[in-house]
Amino acid sequence: MNPRRYSLLTELLTQPTAPFREQAVMTLVASVLKQNGVAFFHDPIGNMIVGCASAAEYLYLVRQKIAEPLRVFIAHTDHPGFHGLRWLSDSRLKIKWHGGSPTKHLTGSSVWLAGSAGLWGQGQLRQVRLLKSKHAIDTAEVQIIKSATRASRPKANALFGGFKFRAPVWRSGKKIYTKAADDLVGVFAIVHTALDFQKKYRGKRSPPFLGLLTRAEEVGFVGAIGHFDLGWLTSALRPIVCVSLETSRTLPGALIGHGPVVRLGDRRTVFDPDYLKVLTDVAAHSLPKKHQRRVMDGGACEATAATVYGFPAIGISVPLGNYHNQGLEGGPDCRGADGPAPEFVHLDDIEGMLRLCQALLQPKLSWSDPWKPQQHLMQKRLRSYRRLL
Ligand SMILES: [Zn+2]
Repeated sequence: MNPRRYSLLTELLTQPTAPFREQAVMTLVASVLKQNGVAFFHDPIGNMIVGCASAAEYLYLVRQKIAEPLRVFIAHTDHPGFHGLRWLSDSRLKIKWHGGSPTKHLTGSSVWLAGSAGLWGQGQLRQVRLLKSKHAIDTAEVQIIKSATRASRPKANALFGGFKFRAPVWRSGKKIYTKAADDLVGVFAIVHTALDFQKKYRGKRSPPFLGLLTRAEEVGFVGAIGHFDLGWLTSALRPIVCVSLETSRTLPGALIGHGPVVRLGDRRTVFDPDYLKVLTDVAAHSLPKKHQRRVMDGGACEATAATVYGFPAIGISVPLGNYHNQGLEGGPDCRGADGPAPEFVHLDDIEGMLRLCQALLQPKLSWSDPWKPQQHLMQKRLRSYRRLL
């Protein structure tokens, strides 16, 4: 990866974000796209659409009567975190958690806090209550340890935050440790793809690419649902393929550092078999022996939301250590099993995801008849065995 792109990746991983509080990520992405002349706009939900300047342009693109499918790459800009609810004293903030979280070793763990102007301070968790399901934090108190502006305390609901480690992002060999790889790595992949694509396809009338950077995925794909519910894609006159780009909990057969994963499904459903065949072939060709392939059922993703709305979906995952900051794999700065821990990903897996995104945009892939060669092979087999039937 060239150094400029790598620094964009680390800058993205540094941004504070939480469900419904994705502004810092959106602002950084907007400035990079603007600098590079890539069109974008926001839908009424606040999701960012990359590759089009307006809803009118979006509708024009999807309503073209052509066979080449529109690849809609989807990644989410949030990560599990908390919102301030109310001040209990000058230095104690009651908070509500949104999304998954570690469930042990929580008391005394460090958190960062941010407001609309960026990072505001840090604190420690106290009085943690888990949800009834015991799956994640429900509410807690944050004891403020350090803050930028003690004098003018922000309104409680202007603050949000998440788990804090030695740094927002750091490297150890090819492993990247961070407060939140999920899904800022996916966001990076879309921005990276858009920047490369812009150079290649500048001026073309029917680009096959759109990026959808969503909000509030961690509470159940709310941004993606909002987008699909607009009905813009339903009006398409060309084939649509939704491609979820995620970091997904590492599992047997989806190991960190062994390449990106052709994601056959998530916890809710399997994905589109025809388009998965295209992705499988693309991966075999562009990353031979350097990719993995399986149902990533450690979590659900926005490809499920697309499927529910009737759009064929596939996915590419980067295997993720310490999913949702849960100390599942342990390592540096982990507070113990199931306690807060930095997420980590492998640089080679990210590079592989970038390769697959690029390869999926090649013209004339076999989207409309991906099984044809297999059918020929099967017919040949039938012919060769017919005399034994
Ligand atoms: Zn995610």
